Amino acid sequence: MNVQLIVGTVITVAIVVAPAWLSYRIYKRIGRRCTEKKDKYQDTKEFCGCNLRRVHKILLPEDERISFLSQNGRWRCWIRRSIKLTFTICPVHGVKCVKIDFDILSVFHALWTNWFRKEQYTMQEKKLIDAFWTKVKQLHASGGHKTLDGQTTDTPPISLSSIVESVFEELSDVMGGE
Ligand SMILES: [Zn+2]
Repeated sequence: MNVQLIVGTVITVAIVVAPAWLSYRIYKRIGRRCTEKKDKYQDTKEFCGCNLRRVHKILLPEDERISFLSQNGRWRCWIRRSIKLTFTICPVHGVKCVKIDFDILSVFHALWTNWFRKEQYTMQEKKLIDAFWTKVKQLHASGGHKTLDGQTTDTPPISLSSIVESVFEELSDVMGGE
Protein backbone atom coordinates (compact mmCIF):
# COMPACT_ATOMS: atom_id res chain seq x y z
CA MET A 1 0.00 0.00 0.00
CA ASN A 2 1.32 3.36 -0.94
CA VAL A 3 0.61 5.57 2.05
CA GLN A 4 1.56 8.73 0.18
CA LEU A 5 -0.94 7.92 -2.55
CA ILE A 6 -3.73 7.39 -0.03
CA VAL A 7 -2.91 10.59 1.86
CA GLY A 8 -2.69 12.47 -1.44
CA THR A 9 -6.06 11.14 -2.54
CA VAL A 10 -7.69 12.06 0.76
CA ILE A 11 -6.27 15.60 0.61
CA THR A 12 -7.38 16.03 -3.01
CA VAL A 13 -10.89 14.82 -2.23
CA ALA A 14 -11.02 17.14 0.79
CA ILE A 15 -9.92 20.12 -1.30
CA VAL A 16 -12.56 19.38 -3.95
CA VAL A 17 -15.41 18.32 -1.69
CA ALA A 18 -15.03 20.79 1.17
CA PRO A 19 -15.76 23.99 -0.82
CA ALA A 20 -18.69 22.30 -2.57
CA TRP A 21 -20.11 21.14 0.74
CA LEU A 22 -19.51 24.55 2.32
CA SER A 23 -21.19 26.45 -0.51
CA TYR A 24 -24.11 24.02 -0.37
CA ARG A 25 -24.50 24.74 3.34
CA ILE A 26 -24.29 28.50 2.75
CA TYR A 27 -26.83 28.20 -0.06
CA LYS A 28 -29.17 26.30 2.24
CA ARG A 29 -28.75 28.91 4.94
CA ILE A 30 -29.17 32.02 2.81
CA GLY A 31 -30.67 30.91 -0.49
CA ARG A 32 -33.66 29.17 1.01
CA ARG A 33 -34.78 31.76 3.49
CA CYS A 34 -37.93 33.77 2.88
CA THR A 35 -37.13 37.42 2.11
CA GLU A 36 -40.64 38.78 2.52
CA LYS A 37 -41.08 41.57 5.04
CA LYS A 38 -41.94 40.16 8.43
CA ASP A 39 -44.98 42.39 8.76
CA LYS A 40 -46.22 43.83 5.50
CA TYR A 41 -48.45 46.40 7.22
CA GLN A 42 -45.62 47.99 9.16
CA ASP A 43 -42.53 49.72 7.88
CA THR A 44 -40.12 47.13 9.17
CA LYS A 45 -36.78 46.05 7.76
CA GLU A 46 -36.98 42.69 9.45
CA PHE A 47 -37.29 39.75 7.11
CA CYS A 48 -39.39 36.66 7.58
CA GLY A 49 -36.40 34.29 7.39
CA CYS A 50 -38.48 31.11 7.39
CA ASN A 51 -37.06 28.15 5.52
CA LEU A 52 -38.53 27.86 2.06
CA ARG A 53 -39.54 24.57 0.55
CA ARG A 54 -39.05 24.41 -3.19
CA VAL A 55 -41.44 22.71 -5.58
CA HIS A 56 -40.66 22.13 -9.24
CA LYS A 57 -43.15 21.44 -12.00
CA ILE A 58 -42.66 20.55 -15.63
CA LEU A 59 -45.53 21.22 -17.99
CA LEU A 60 -45.71 19.55 -21.37
CA PRO A 61 -48.42 19.88 -24.01
CA GLU A 62 -50.84 16.95 -24.03
CA ASP A 63 -49.56 15.58 -27.32
CA GLU A 64 -45.94 15.59 -26.13
CA ARG A 65 -44.37 12.26 -25.23
CA ILE A 66 -41.42 11.81 -22.90
CA SER A 67 -39.32 9.90 -25.36
CA PHE A 68 -36.21 10.15 -27.49
CA LEU A 69 -38.56 9.90 -30.47
CA SER A 70 -40.46 13.03 -31.40
CA GLN A 71 -44.04 13.01 -32.72
CA ASN A 72 -42.82 12.73 -36.29
CA GLY A 73 -40.62 9.74 -35.39
CA ARG A 74 -37.28 11.56 -35.37
CA TRP A 75 -34.57 11.00 -32.76
CA ARG A 76 -34.08 13.88 -30.42
CA CYS A 77 -32.26 14.82 -27.21
CA TRP A 78 -34.41 17.80 -26.30
CA ILE A 79 -38.06 18.52 -25.70
CA ARG A 80 -38.62 22.03 -26.94
CA ARG A 81 -42.19 22.69 -25.86
CA SER A 82 -41.66 22.48 -22.14
CA ILE A 83 -42.27 24.92 -19.35
CA LYS A 84 -40.51 24.58 -16.02
CA LEU A 85 -42.02 26.24 -12.99
CA THR A 86 -40.36 26.82 -9.64
CA PHE A 87 -42.40 27.55 -6.54
CA THR A 88 -41.33 28.40 -3.03
CA ILE A 89 -43.50 27.63 -0.05
CA CYS A 90 -43.11 29.66 3.13
CA PRO A 91 -44.99 28.46 6.23
CA VAL A 92 -45.99 32.09 6.89
CA HIS A 93 -46.32 33.67 3.44
CA GLY A 94 -47.59 30.70 1.48
CA VAL A 95 -46.91 29.70 -2.11
CA LYS A 96 -45.05 31.89 -4.57
CA CYS A 97 -44.15 31.14 -8.19
CA VAL A 98 -40.57 32.38 -8.50
CA LYS A 99 -39.60 31.20 -11.94
CA ILE A 100 -41.21 30.38 -15.29
CA ASP A 101 -38.62 28.83 -17.53
CA PHE A 102 -39.20 28.23 -21.26
CA ASP A 103 -35.79 26.66 -21.88
CA ILE A 104 -35.60 23.39 -23.76
CA LEU A 105 -35.67 20.30 -21.59
CA SER A 106 -33.28 17.42 -22.09
CA VAL A 107 -34.96 14.06 -22.64
CA PHE A 108 -32.67 12.60 -19.94
CA HIS A 109 -33.97 15.10 -17.40
CA ALA A 110 -37.55 14.45 -18.53
CA LEU A 111 -37.16 10.67 -18.17
CA TRP A 112 -35.36 10.93 -14.82
CA THR A 113 -38.17 13.11 -13.52
CA ASN A 114 -40.76 10.72 -14.90
CA TRP A 115 -39.14 7.81 -13.04
CA PHE A 116 -38.32 9.42 -9.71
CA ARG A 117 -40.35 12.65 -9.45
CA LYS A 118 -43.45 11.87 -11.43
CA GLU A 119 -45.52 14.35 -9.40
CA GLN A 120 -43.63 17.16 -11.16
CA TYR A 121 -45.71 16.55 -14.28
CA THR A 122 -49.04 17.20 -12.63
CA MET A 123 -50.20 20.47 -11.20
CA GLN A 124 -53.56 20.09 -9.57
CA GLU A 125 -52.90 21.95 -6.31
CA LYS A 126 -55.01 25.09 -6.38
CA LYS A 127 -52.43 27.09 -4.43
CA LEU A 128 -49.78 26.36 -7.05
CA ILE A 129 -52.10 27.23 -9.93
CA ASP A 130 -53.11 30.49 -8.23
CA ALA A 131 -49.47 31.38 -7.57
CA PHE A 132 -48.65 30.62 -11.19
CA TRP A 133 -51.35 32.92 -12.56
CA THR A 134 -50.27 35.66 -10.16
CA LYS A 135 -46.75 35.39 -11.61
CA VAL A 136 -48.08 35.42 -15.19
CA LYS A 137 -50.10 38.55 -14.49
CA GLN A 138 -47.04 40.19 -12.92
CA LEU A 139 -44.95 39.34 -15.98
CA HIS A 140 -47.59 40.73 -18.31
CA ALA A 141 -47.93 43.88 -16.26
CA SER A 142 -44.19 44.50 -16.16
CA GLY A 143 -43.60 43.48 -19.79
CA GLY A 144 -41.30 40.75 -18.48
CA HIS A 145 -42.46 38.34 -21.18
CA LYS A 146 -40.67 40.47 -23.78
CA THR A 147 -37.37 39.14 -22.50
CA LEU A 148 -38.36 35.59 -23.36
CA ASP A 149 -36.21 34.26 -26.15
CA GLY A 150 -38.33 33.30 -29.15
CA GLN A 151 -35.49 31.10 -30.48
CA THR A 152 -35.94 28.54 -27.76
CA THR A 153 -39.30 27.33 -29.05
CA ASP A 154 -39.85 25.33 -32.18
CA THR A 155 -42.69 27.60 -33.19
CA PRO A 156 -42.07 29.26 -36.57
CA PRO A 157 -40.76 32.83 -36.25
CA ILE A 158 -43.99 34.68 -35.68
CA SER A 159 -44.57 37.53 -33.30
CA LEU A 160 -43.47 36.92 -29.74
CA SER A 161 -46.85 37.80 -28.32
CA SER A 162 -48.51 35.03 -30.32
CA ILE A 163 -45.87 32.58 -29.09
CA VAL A 164 -46.60 33.58 -25.54
CA GLU A 165 -50.30 33.34 -26.26
CA SER A 166 -50.06 29.82 -27.68
CA VAL A 167 -47.88 28.75 -24.77
CA PHE A 168 -50.50 29.95 -22.34
CA GLU A 169 -53.22 28.21 -24.32
CA GLU A 170 -51.31 24.96 -24.01
CA LEU A 171 -50.76 25.66 -20.35
CA SER A 172 -54.42 26.09 -19.60
CA ASP A 173 -55.08 22.83 -21.45
CA VAL A 174 -52.49 21.05 -19.33
CA MET A 175 -53.87 22.51 -16.15
CA GLY A 176 -57.51 21.96 -16.95
CA GLY A 177 -58.44 25.46 -18.01
CA GLU A 178 -58.64 28.82 -16.33
ZN1 LIG B 1 -42.12 34.11 4.76
